[in-house]
Amino acid sequence: MNVYDSQRMADALARDGYQPTEVMEEADLVLLNTCHIREKAAEKVYSELGRIRKLKEERAEKGDELIIGVAGCVAQAEGQEIIRRAPAVDLVIGPQTYHRLPDAVGRARRGEKIVETDYAIEDKFEHLPAPERRAVRSRGVTAFLTVQEGCDKFCTFCVVPYTRGSEVSRPVAQILDEARRLADAGVRELTLLGQNVNAWHGEGPDGEWGLGRLLFRLAEVPSIERLRYTTSHPRDMDDELIAAHRDLDKLMPYLHLPVQAGSDRILKAMNRRHKAVDYLRLIDRIRAARPDIAMSGDFIVGFPGETDEDFEATMRIVREVTYAQAFSFKYSPRPGTPGADMPFQVAEEVKDERLQRLQALLTEQQKAFAAGLVGKEMDILIEKPGRRTGQIVGRSPWLQPVIVDETAGEIGDIVRVRITEAGANSLFSEPVL
Ligand code: SAH
Ligand code: SF4
Repeated sequence: MNVYDSQRMADALARDGYQPTEVMEEADLVLLNTCHIREKAAEKVYSELGRIRKLKEERAEKGDELIIGVAGCVAQAEGQEIIRRAPAVDLVIGPQTYHRLPDAVGRARRGEKIVETDYAIEDKFEHLPAPERRAVRSRGVTAFLTVQEGCDKFCTFCVVPYTRGSEVSRPVAQILDEARRLADAGVRELTLLGQNVNAWHGEGPDGEWGLGRLLFRLAEVPSIERLRYTTSHPRDMDDELIAAHRDLDKLMPYLHLPVQAGSDRILKAMNRRHKAVDYLRLIDRIRAARPDIAMSGDFIVGFPGETDEDFEATMRIVREVTYAQAFSFKYSPRPGTPGADMPFQVAEEVKDERLQRLQALLTEQQKAFAAGLVGKEMDILIEKPGRRTGQIVGRSPWLQPVIVDETAGEIGDIVRVRITEAGANSLFSEPVL
């Protein structure tokens, strides 16, 4: 979501003549887009700000200016505190007000210190300028499209409901417009984004739509060949969305559906509002609808009160589901969340040991999944030139990079290949003629 937000910020600033650069030393405006989900991510912001401050001082010696901005969820959560801790920062802006960024940057340039963290009443997306065609093209044939923001679930470990605010769904017409514009500029694959993307709902021409309906409609947009969405909550996987996985070829057979933990006691303490068995039954239903679907998930180890036995339940659920890919984290107490104040916080060494065991199992499953594809045929979407000359890289339906000879097709083509080998991070293939 931060990648998408950064693009929208770049689009908003493009109107004032700003262009993105890969080289920070060239920039006269540095905007750090930040993440508050775990302590490590939030603390990284301050070490990075130290580095940028040096650049600002060097500039000042030469009589030049460098504006420093902090955006994202750290900006939202810490506001004024950021300028107190890092006085070189000129501008702090939260995710709900990115449409006000050009104005805020202008005021910062005139010497004002800006903290913009109020929740906007107006619709941010209505006011954010559409990207230029050239900008979309430079970003490639796959694109993110935020359809939903915020969260009302209040899992006890999570800051998202506080930093991103309550759930908001973008209207159908706005999403379709953006999808068409992206498709016109060469995009072939859309990944719909939301903190709780499957809670998306909107007013369609014939009444209330859920995400399933939206996917069916997006599949009709000319040139859009592939659809994905992330991240989903198990409680919001409704029948229509499962039907979309059954009936919609363009919807890729890959689903990121975090369970976080396998123990019912811990799930309850996390306020996930479902049991392990509900999750397993749900996956059975999804697999019945789409047998080749591969699962991805998120896991937290060492939530307060997690015993060895609870952790074994997480290992069990992983063995039962078998994941093609997953993210796993040590529980990080976040300020203002109920989890941070719970008794029986788990020792760091215990979290380390559990994380290692869990990741070893998940890595094994990921490798087995990739190895199982050797000899199989699949369609890949060609995305970019390979690192070696003569090769290009595409994406499998399950998000793996697939390397093939460049004669197989052009960027943006979907081509049929046979997997010849599974490497550590990518698959190798030959074209099927
Ligand atoms: N909305 C999504 C997840 C958003 S946060 C969902 O409900 O699944 C992305 C992931 O970060 C979460 O799935 C969780 O695994 C992890 N995470 C969130 N808060 C965390 C915390 N305090 N400590 C460790 N991991 C956390
Ligand atoms: Fe955080 Fe996701 Fe839970 Fe919302 S549903 S509180 S975003 S983990």
